[in-house]
Amino acid sequence: INVNGRDQQFRRNSGNLNGTSSAGSSKSRELQEQRKQLPIAQGREALIEQIANHHVTVLLGETGSGKTTQVPQYLLESGIAGSGIIAVTQPRRVAATSLAARVAAEQGTTLGGLVGYSVRFDEVAGPDMRIKYMTDGMLVRELLSDPLLTRYSVVVVDEAHERTLRTDLLITKLKTILKKRNGGIFPEGKGKGKAAATSGNPLKVIIMSATLDAEKFSKFYNNCKILYVKGRQHSVKIYHTAESQVDYVDAALRTFFQIHVDHPPGDVLIFLPGQEDIESLDKSIRLYANRLPVDKMAVMTCPMFAALPPAQQAKIFQSTPTNTRKCILATNIAETSITIPGIKYVIDTGKHKEKLHLAHDTGSGFDALLTRDITKSSAMQRAGRAGREDKGYCFRLYTEEAFEAMAVSSEPEIRRTSLTSAALQLKCLDEDIEDLDFMDRPDVESIMSALKSLWFLNAIDKSRRITDAGRSMAAFPLEPNLASAVLESVKNTCTLEVIDIVSVLSSTSKLFFDISDEREAAAEVRRKFRHRSGDHMTIVNALRSYQDVAATESKAARKEWCRKQYLNERTLLEAIKIRDQLRATCEKMGIDWRTSAQDDEKLVTKSLFRGLVLHSALLQPDGITFKQVYGRSVIKIHPGSTLADQKVPAIIYDELVYTNHIYARGVSAIPKAFLAEISIQIKNWVA
Ligand code: ADP
Ligand code: MG
Repeated sequence: INVNGRDQQFRRNSGNLNGTSSAGSSKSRELQEQRKQLPIAQGREALIEQIANHHVTVLLGETGSGKTTQVPQYLLESGIAGSGIIAVTQPRRVAATSLAARVAAEQGTTLGGLVGYSVRFDEVAGPDMRIKYMTDGMLVRELLSDPLLTRYSVVVVDEAHERTLRTDLLITKLKTILKKRNGGIFPEGKGKGKAAATSGNPLKVIIMSATLDAEKFSKFYNNCKILYVKGRQHSVKIYHTAESQVDYVDAALRTFFQIHVDHPPGDVLIFLPGQEDIESLDKSIRLYANRLPVDKMAVMTCPMFAALPPAQQAKIFQSTPTNTRKCILATNIAETSITIPGIKYVIDTGKHKEKLHLAHDTGSGFDALLTRDITKSSAMQRAGRAGREDKGYCFRLYTEEAFEAMAVSSEPEIRRTSLTSAALQLKCLDEDIEDLDFMDRPDVESIMSALKSLWFLNAIDKSRRITDAGRSMAAFPLEPNLASAVLESVKNTCTLEVIDIVSVLSSTSKLFFDISDEREAAAEVRRKFRHRSGDHMTIVNALRSYQDVAATESKAARKEWCRKQYLNERTLLEAIKIRDQLRATCEKMGIDWRTSAQDDEKLVTKSLFRGLVLHSALLQPDGITFKQVYGRSVIKIHPGSTLADQKVPAIIYDELVYTNHIYARGVSAIPKAFLAEISIQIKNWVA
């Protein structure tokens, strides 16, 4: 098959990933047999012994060696965990939910029994739960109600090498918790059982990592011991493109079919930066696969990204049907968090999405999710995925020179994202982010920007102490600015609408599909949802229309309706779930969420403005561009916005996106008077 008329040109790499022994697990054998076959199983006794005798252990092991699935079960089966719960933190929600399902199956129970999970807006947990997979963010949140994490006898901080902000925060907090619960980081006696004798409810901490930066973790915990698990890694032949690729999705498509047509059976894993690219490539691959001659193997595609519903995630692990090649299209979730069996070929676009806090650009600062080059260490991990069961191949869609130019590893997130939400959570614990002992300290400017944001939101007072409003904000499972909008809606009696909006904004995917080749048609059908105040009330209209349809129509009809309106039903369903939780949070706090703005949408924009105050901008004399009120950037309204060609005096927006210009997305018009009202309070900020 000739895709788009040309072949992808590759050069063989000079180097190889090192390969070792044979072995591999038979898919047909039982789960218990599979468990015993994992590399970590050989070290089981030594591992249990070490953990039993020390408060903190750092465990380093190659991806797929069995750390995440096995260590919690060893802790449970050996009795080390006592009667407490074992928490296992993950940076990504898909990893938490899918690994919990796997471990529940290995334990022969259903999810929600012995094994559960907890991610934002979704929890499966029962009274018998002993192993809990959770996002690092959820465990940080639990600190607010249980500062010593007394429910847990073991905390396993997994994927520590990713160095997410929440993981770093946990590593810091666990150090003080260990001192309080165990009297120190080291046990007083070294003998077996002594550790448990030092306190009524001692804690064990295990830091797990996939790459070779374990010393840093060990140093942080007073040079605690590092254990290594050897994985199985067969040799992987690496190819680079001869020339750099501008369109990596197209290059991936061509490469996939080259593999499919010319190479022996074996599944393919393609690394792409995000959901949009995954969905577009998925569509193209299926399209071309249908045109294959009948004597060729069939193709089965499996997308894998954060917003994918659990039922579809499971598809990845199902064995490939006969005479079919599985093609997994994944984000960096498949780099170290989740190991998919059967992969022989890896296609690496060399890109990922990274959250960056662009403070210096704008004065006020904002987080942007940008598609960027991966690091060398990611590239090595990605290639490694091809060699877990046998010899493999990795096709890099970038040149060898580009690989050499990549950074060795990425900066910890604490040094590149907004600290506002973390600073608020710490304030609730009577702690200041600037006083804490971190593995890597955040920048002073970044801390100041977080405190300024909290002041703008009324979450802290002049002496930087947390306010009652600040505490209420932290009680919502939302970013502080959205929580602040909800609180403001109580005053403005429009909580119903604001919660609708916030629920959609907190969903993992976008509500309105942005299909570039059908943009005109999409805009036409969406016209009926349009609200003159902008995109936020437009969301309310779309959500309400969907609910009207949902009330009477069948599941299939609902789906079809969404397709015709270019609405993402997954987002709607997720938003409705989130809304239920936000309403429940309101009820717990004695807030009546039923108050409605009726036809007075100003109440809604006023409430949103309170939370998005740092995201406000004024129309400039040119009548087209806007200047940030609390920042220096000049921005335009995104062409996909309801307000794209309207002339309004001032706006608030959800986010900025960088392309050839800075565009504001999720825009509503506000009267200038709102800005005047708030400026007096804000002027009192002294940095
Ligand atoms: P590590 O944490 O060291 O990277 P894991 O414990 O995640 O290793 O993986 C161990 C093994 O469990 C891998 O071979 C992986 O393929 C398998 N596995 C994990 N989740 C599932 C699942 N949902 N279905 C089938 N196999 C799985
Ligand atoms: Mg793991």
